[in-house]
Amino acid sequence: MNIQNAEKPAILGGPPVRPEGPPTWPRSDPLVDLAIRNLLTTGDWGRYHGPHVPELCRRLSEYQNVEHVLLCSSGTAAVELALRGVGVSEKDEVILAGYDFKANFQNILCLRATPVLVDLDPSTWQLDCSRLETAISTRTKAILISHLHGGFVDMPKVREIADAQGIPVVEDICQCPGAMLFGRLAGNWGDVGVHSFGGSKLLTAGRGGAVFTQRTDIAERIKRYVHRGNEAYPLSEAQAAIIRPQIDQLDFLNESRRQTVRRLCSRLGEGAGLTALQLPNVNLVPAYYKVGFRYRAEDFQGMSRSLFVKSLRAEGIAFDPGFRGLHLIHASRRFRTAGELTQSSRADAEMLTLHHPVLIHGNEAVDEVVAAIEKVRAWSEEIQSNRLTIENCGADQTLLQ
Ligand SMILES: *Cc1c(COP(=O)(O)O)cnc(C)c1O
Repeated sequence: MNIQNAEKPAILGGPPVRPEGPPTWPRSDPLVDLAIRNLLTTGDWGRYHGPHVPELCRRLSEYQNVEHVLLCSSGTAAVELALRGVGVSEKDEVILAGYDFKANFQNILCLRATPVLVDLDPSTWQLDCSRLETAISTRTKAILISHLHGGFVDMPKVREIADAQGIPVVEDICQCPGAMLFGRLAGNWGDVGVHSFGGSKLLTAGRGGAVFTQRTDIAERIKRYVHRGNEAYPLSEAQAAIIRPQIDQLDFLNESRRQTVRRLCSRLGEGAGLTALQLPNVNLVPAYYKVGFRYRAEDFQGMSRSLFVKSLRAEGIAFDPGFRGLHLIHASRRFRTAGELTQSSRADAEMLTLHHPVLIHGNEAVDEVVAAIEKVRAWSEEIQSNRLTIENCGADQTLLQ
């Protein structure tokens, strides 16, 4: 691209690719509007008990094809409940990836157990199952698996190891409801699965979560903990009523997000500076909450990931850095590691994620994301020479007219 002719990037005062900013979430949905009007006319919005919580349990149990579903106040609470459900307590160990959602690590500490960190697979940046066995000790009480950024952990391998050792698996599907590996739904590979209905998630009520399992012993242990004559971590009737109609649209919207990601990855191709982490896998039907990419600064003339994110955000495209490596933000006495965490450190430094709302906007979304990346690439030198001014200005302000 000829720099002279290219439009200036928004971060240097040019016109943003999406002046209106990234698409908002939650999106407007007539079925949710209807559910809210119905809550108003019936008064169910203000009741402790009503038809909506039982109906959502029934629908989720049908969708996941599992017997027990317990709703709760967040995905974070759901992970805690799932860990309690498999009996994690003081002095136990729980294995998880060195790169994961921070609250998963904190939940283990909350139960006075010790997180044991395992590195990521270098090609997918999901938990590396070839390292699982070395992480197991006599104290291992559970393996906590999260599928992140559109990827999927090698669950047949996890099941094989867990079953051989009699260790239960907690499967966090907060980022991938509806994904499938070998025709088996995300959440059904674990002994217990975890959903989030948080404000940014694919199924949303602002807050909320669910735990589901085929195992009656796990469900009973969770019930004993949350049912205290009153519910300790409740999901409200209003939240349940709002989530219910979104489940019917999940598969359709997941397919539309998949098509967009496929087109986006083929447009970006090799040498785009962003490598999609979702390698084509005929056995996997992914679901996208965030799309994970590996950011290569050298393809943007050395531009830092944070400056790249700021530049793309100024264009109205919602890129973010990924999570922090868990070993890099917690005191080492809090956890044990099973081997080196080289890939977790790389993911900490190089993971780039694209937030999902744009993915249901089809071809237009693909054009916008690609145009914004190309613009920032063409101007990467100028952006970097203005780095100090940009950093003093904050993420979404523009400079120089
Ligand atoms: C969002 C998320 C959760 C739970 O989030 P809540 O905001 O507590 O509902 C758990 N694990 C992962 C991987 C997540 O992305």
